[in-house]
Amino acid sequence: MSQPTLDWRSPLPAGFRWPEGLRAAACFTFDVDAESPVLFEYPEAAGWLDVMSHQAYGPRTGVPRILRILERRGLRATFFVPGYTAERWPAAIRAIRDAGHEIGHHGYLHEGAHSAPDEATEEAHLLRGLDALDRVASVRPIGYRAPMWELSYRLPALLARHGFAYDSGLMDADHPYRLAVGPEAGAASIIELPAHWSLDDWEPYNYLPGITGSGVIASPADVLARWTLELEALVAEGGLFVLTNHPFVSGRSSRAVALEALIERAQAIDGLWLATAAEIAAHVATLDLAPVVHVPPLLPDDA
Ligand SMILES: [Zn+2]
Repeated sequence: MSQPTLDWRSPLPAGFRWPEGLRAAACFTFDVDAESPVLFEYPEAAGWLDVMSHQAYGPRTGVPRILRILERRGLRATFFVPGYTAERWPAAIRAIRDAGHEIGHHGYLHEGAHSAPDEATEEAHLLRGLDALDRVASVRPIGYRAPMWELSYRLPALLARHGFAYDSGLMDADHPYRLAVGPEAGAASIIELPAHWSLDDWEPYNYLPGITGSGVIASPADVLARWTLELEALVAEGGLFVLTNHPFVSGRSSRAVALEALIERAQAIDGLWLATAAEIAAHVATLDLAPVVHVPPLLPDDA
């Protein structure tokens, strides 16, 4: 589409490089979902104390534990916060901010874009999330992570229009790239920091009967081994490792121990840049990269 020929001999995209002296990057991110994804899918769960307590573990217990880990390791991270979470748990969100971490946008009530009927609906979620983060924490995020990783083709343009510098959640690359927000050449662009389900703690760990998960809960030792393999493989390719953890999931005790062990391993890798998503996006924005244009596939006539 945008490339007349495919250059497959180098793992690094044309024009891409990390800052001087660095060969790869890792970004530890935390999606502070708390109750919001459950309430978006199952509004009736607002009356279920058991389920709400499972989600409240994040801001009550997981966030403080993760902040202690990050302080011990001297690492700044990126926390994507739904506006609803900020309103319900303002002290937790202000503590994240006051500890020096980046706060990004994660919807208002964790609204999945697949069910958004039109652009106006998506824009309303975006604005409501911005308003909540501003009122609760006086934060104006420059980064966005789509709830459930669900993105419409129209969302990048909305992000650019509302002053976002980057998105983190598309899954078509190992390296950050410049994301065209429309099909026209010369249109605005933002930076994309790709992620993947395999580096998300929800799938291996999470179980809420009737709501999510199979009931098979992975061992933190196995998850640490899996994530370490991906970290080392991405470093070898000069890529970007984006880990997505949730305080209500990985804030639990032995999972948090495994997370800290992974951070220690990453910090021991020579030439690996550990940075916030905003710092990585700011670097990528300085590179002369051809924007990647996403075009929806055309369905065959008989589909
Ligand atoms: Zn989320």
